Amino acid sequence: MNILPYGRQSIDAADLQAVTESIQSGWLTTGPKVGEFEEAFAQRVGAKHAVAVCNATAALHLAMLVSGIGSGDRVVTSPNTFLASANCAAFVGATPDFCDIDPVTYNLDPAKLAADWTPDTRGIVAVDYGGQTADMVAISKIARQHGAIVIEDACHAVGGEFEHDGQHYKIGGHPWADITTFSFHPVKTMTCGEGGMFVTDNDEFAEKARRLRSHGMVRQPEMFLGLGDGVNESDNAALNEQGPWYYEMHDLGFNYRITDFQCALGLNQLRRLDSFLNRRREIVAAYNDAFASINWIQTPGLRNERDRDLTSWHLYTMMVDFKSLGVTRSSMMKSLRARRVGTQVLYIPVYLQPWYQSSYGYRAGKCPIAEQQYQQSLSLPLFPEMSDADVGLVVDSVLQFTDTL
Ligand SMILES: *Cc1c(COP(=O)(O)O)cnc(C)c1O
Repeated sequence: MNILPYGRQSIDAADLQAVTESIQSGWLTTGPKVGEFEEAFAQRVGAKHAVAVCNATAALHLAMLVSGIGSGDRVVTSPNTFLASANCAAFVGATPDFCDIDPVTYNLDPAKLAADWTPDTRGIVAVDYGGQTADMVAISKIARQHGAIVIEDACHAVGGEFEHDGQHYKIGGHPWADITTFSFHPVKTMTCGEGGMFVTDNDEFAEKARRLRSHGMVRQPEMFLGLGDGVNESDNAALNEQGPWYYEMHDLGFNYRITDFQCALGLNQLRRLDSFLNRRREIVAAYNDAFASINWIQTPGLRNERDRDLTSWHLYTMMVDFKSLGVTRSSMMKSLRARRVGTQVLYIPVYLQPWYQSSYGYRAGKCPIAEQQYQQSLSLPLFPEMSDADVGLVVDSVLQFTDTL
């Protein structure tokens, strides 16, 4: 039986051809497609720089490193996210912390962020849950007033936009985030297999991210410090002549590179992004229409109604008060699955993970709205290759579940 998952990639003949041609070109690691993908992506989201990396977790780690965040610093993120949004702070020895979410958008609540501010808070990782942008204008206002860095985890929001003061702004290209990260994992809106993008308008951040992506190595002669091999110690001109093997390591970096064929796939997926977004918006509209009059379903809420068709809609997460309905979520998930409808629960509040509880002493009750969201949330299948019949099957299965109550 072919279960409809909550998300799935779309790979067409042109995607396959792009990957095949890239592999046949002989480039298997960094080649021309990496730069082409970065350029096309930066242009699409309206940013100055895009640095392609092996996954978004790496992009988040680089965001922490280029911001100089480390031991003794506090980094605040949403509890309603994937582990990596918080783990990146722990990677650099900072303390990941969590502020509660807004009950309508399920995104970080700026009022809570302001109320819980501490002097050691150096960074914010604002997550665009389900594709809807976090309240970046309010969040950056609070953060910048305290000199903290704003990172937007837009792993759910590639291609998304939002309205502010009558204008449209692109996620990745607006002025209220210092760094924005995107994921190209297959469950996300476009895919490279694995892959991520680090996006910024800051020249220094971009250059540092590029260097850290590949071991902190420098190969441009004009940047050499000239101390690298004990020869010609301060004579850069001589080093230039010394030959092409010479390189220097200026920082402790990583191998966070992405392959050329992944970027070839990314480039073609980027060409298809608008069609993905349009289909997602159609499916969301169909679900909203079907569930509008069902009093036990709360359809996804927007901070700004005008964002409805600007949002990228990575997830369709509805809220169900299972307790008052007198059913368990598992029973509903099982009943839907028996009709081929897969569902998912996103997310367990990150601070409730055993590692977070034991490392930082976080306990249940810390963010009550996120905990309630977790109790009530159910994400329905949403991906561009769903047919109208698939959408109808999901709707009928959900509605008929009520009939059995
Ligand atoms: C998927 C995801 C990540 C991690 O992305 P990878 O590319 O899998 O490393 C980070 N944050 C959020 C919100 C995500 O959904």
